[in-house]
Amino acid sequence: MSIRDFMLKFLNLQGYKVGGLEYRGKEVLIRVELRRMTGSCPHCGKRCGYLHQYQKERKVWHKVIGEHRIYLVGRKRRWRGKRCGKVFTEEWP
Ligand SMILES: [Zn+2]
Repeated sequence: MSIRDFMLKFLNLQGYKVGGLEYRGKEVLIRVELRRMTGSCPHCGKRCGYLHQYQKERKVWHKVIGEHRIYLVGRKRRWRGKRCGKVFTEEWP
């Protein structure tokens, strides 16, 4: 297991693609995007979706390690269901 894999496991980020780390004093920003390329549609329950748009970038507190505060930074994707045509937003913290 590489150090990076260990980090991702330790941080519970296995479901994410991790872009990069940025240190700002005691804050560590981790750039993430969900790994999966479709969404689960809450309207029809199917795993379907065309990428509709990206939401604004957000910064979410993740956890504290030692004296560092870890944040996830990323944009939620909005999907359009293939069958029902409705738009929905993916879920992550
Ligand atoms: Zn749907």
